[in-house]
Amino acid sequence: MKKIIILGGGIGGVVSANLLRKKLPIEYRIILIEKNPVHYFAPSFMWLMTGDRKSSNISTKLERLLNPGIEIIIAEANNIDITNKNVHTSNGNYDYDFLIIALGADLAPELINGYNQDLHTFYSFEGSIKLYERLRKFKSGTIAVVVCSLPYKCPGAPIEGTLLIADYLRKNGLSDKIKINYFTPEPQPMPVAGPELGSSVIKLLESNNVAFHPLYTLERFDTVNREIFFDNKNPEKYDLLVVIPPHRSPQVVRDSGLTNESGWLPVNPQTLETKYENVFAIGDITSVPIPGRWKPDVRMMLPKAGVFAHNQAEIVAERIIDKINQIGSKHFFKGGGYCVIEAGNKKAAFAYGNFYGEPHPEVIMKSVGKKWHLGKVFFEKWWLSSGIKKSIIEVILKFGIKLFRIPIKI
Ligand SMILES: Cc1cc2nc3c(=O)[nH]c(=O)nc-3n(C[C@H](O)[C@H](O)[C@H](O)COP(=O)(O)OP(=O)(O)OC[C@H]3O[C@@H](n4cnc5c(N)ncnc54)[C@H](O)[C@@H]3O)c2cc1C
Repeated sequence: MKKIIILGGGIGGVVSANLLRKKLPIEYRIILIEKNPVHYFAPSFMWLMTGDRKSSNISTKLERLLNPGIEIIIAEANNIDITNKNVHTSNGNYDYDFLIIALGADLAPELINGYNQDLHTFYSFEGSIKLYERLRKFKSGTIAVVVCSLPYKCPGAPIEGTLLIADYLRKNGLSDKIKINYFTPEPQPMPVAGPELGSSVIKLLESNNVAFHPLYTLERFDTVNREIFFDNKNPEKYDLLVVIPPHRSPQVVRDSGLTNESGWLPVNPQTLETKYENVFAIGDITSVPIPGRWKPDVRMMLPKAGVFAHNQAEIVAERIIDKINQIGSKHFFKGGGYCVIEAGNKKAAFAYGNFYGEPHPEVIMKSVGKKWHLGKVFFEKWWLSSGIKKSIIEVILKFGIKLFRIPIKI
């Protein structure tokens, strides 16, 4: 019987493993290899940063998220040997008939010129806890939020985090003692979603007293004098520095020679197949060009986001099942995605659309409201729960999606 190995137990890995286990007879082995026995739900890191969640609210044992019958190997993958269909890990070697690579994107703060412990981030679990402690003591001054480089996970997350920092300080009566600057090398927020959405997001930032600075390409930080140096711009002063660190593909994927010139793993945009037989890749690790350019010489890429990892995982699971059953697959990833942007005050905006749209992605943003925030909270609870509780939350979520005619499915 066939053996399917899934590398990575994050969003894409969990969804694909569960669907394969649900649909394939038990004789087919589903093996998930993940280095971390605890699963952290990244979209909630920002609530950890504002003290709205405790660590235990946004993390769970990985095994609680996985259906019975999935073999879980807690180990670090060190080498992917495509020729011999084998994965070497810190806990033995595993051969496969089908391989799904869902290893995500690593944060690489060490690539920052001028990196030291003075930098804060809400892009990691530990970083969010540390930033909460810092924000509690921060009473006045300038906060700089800096997108260090592209690409980064979830185009909406840096905006969301900044709005939540503004909201936290406002609630503590500090708005007029604090200035927030947002610097990014991009020409607008979320360029992949088009200029109209960019203008709406800039308005949202400005209405929360956040100054948006586009086309600021980071050169280095001087953490002694608290200055940021950008390409062709005057240095900027700060009192508190919050960064979206550089991202790169996990070392095992680079060392195994699977990345292209982008540094990521190229796949067929519709089938998620790599150029190697029966090897698929999904989620943040992939490099997927999409229609449109945001600069004459820069192609747009499918954003790295959990919603895509989730949808792609379902497509790949279905395609593997069709391959096993020797039927032509009708399952294709069509580029649909959405994003909830927390705006503070328990409200959020909602953007959705077709990222494969021609001649450029077609993304629409719905105005800020409580229902989108509630949707995000329910999604968080649904993702992190199991058993009967999960089924109940799923019914509530599906009812809400139908009631508000939201063009998504879970
Ligand atoms: C602050 C923040 C907020 C976000 N908010 C949203 C949001 O609102 N909506 C949204 O759609 N997306 C959001 N995202 C992005 C989302 O979390 C990622 O896009 C998503 O997790 C990608 O899924 P994945 O399966 O590709 O990778 P991941 O979920 O990152 O999983 C990769 C897994 O591989 C494991 N791994 C890596 N290397 C190895 C190795 N060598 N051996 C074994 N295991 C390994 C990792 O431990 C990890 O568990 C957010 C991200 C952040 C940081």
